[in-house]
Amino acid sequence: MTYQTINVFALFAHPDDAEFLCSGTLAILADRGARIHITTMTAGDCGSTILPAAKISRIRREEAARAAKMIEAGYSCLMEKDLNIFYDRRTLGKVMQALRAANPDLVFTHSPVDYMVDHETTSRLCQTACFGAMAPNFQTGSRKAARPIRSVPHLYYTEPFGGRDILGEEIHSTLFVDIAPKLSRKEQMLACHESQRAFLSAQQGIADMGTMMRAMAERAGKLSGCASAEGFRQHLGQGFPHDNLLNTLVGTRVRATRISGQ
Ligand SMILES: [Zn+2]
Repeated sequence: MTYQTINVFALFAHPDDAEFLCSGTLAILADRGARIHITTMTAGDCGSTILPAAKISRIRREEAARAAKMIEAGYSCLMEKDLNIFYDRRTLGKVMQALRAANPDLVFTHSPVDYMVDHETTSRLCQTACFGAMAPNFQTGSRKAARPIRSVPHLYYTEPFGGRDILGEEIHSTLFVDIAPKLSRKEQMLACHESQRAFLSAQQGIADMGTMMRAMAERAGKLSGCASAEGFRQHLGQGFPHDNLLNTLVGTRVRATRISGQ
């Protein structure tokens, strides 16, 4: 398997999630020749206190597409609505169609536990889509249905925002990618989401997105012994591949902090 034949699918709830959570790793993979496609469940229609939903959705899709272009990644949006991402047949069909079209070897999505339900539901939809994408009898309902993929892809969960679940319990990433060489690219990708500066400040008291991103990267770096990192956990349930493809692809940049069973 060469980088030129590696397809990577990143499915996140909202525009800017991929940039916060795994864009450093995506940049490393892209620079080595992997094909990257980023999909968001929504266009971020609730991400403004002053603009109507249609207008902020258009702006945020443009921002996400611009950020993706910085690593020559594709971008698409499934046009679900913020706070209304549901695990149902219709939505799963859309996720399955997007995943099959990307034909991925490697998939990134949200942590199964995170600070908000949109993220957790996206994670569950992605898990099922990975599991079922090779099953020909699962029909997506799309007019131009993508073909089932050949095998279950390698699935990695990013860190939850803040590194904790909603009860304050720490979520321990088991793999870390050293992203120090790509930190400025990650910062530039995140900066494409200009519309979110004012909103995150008003809604979540986040004064500066770049500062928050660097703090997340430094925290993961401290846990793994490097300056800046992104943390992941691999889905190791039955039916999923157990070899660590991310480790194979990014070499020594992946550091295991815990070994299962210990
Ligand atoms: Zn989000």
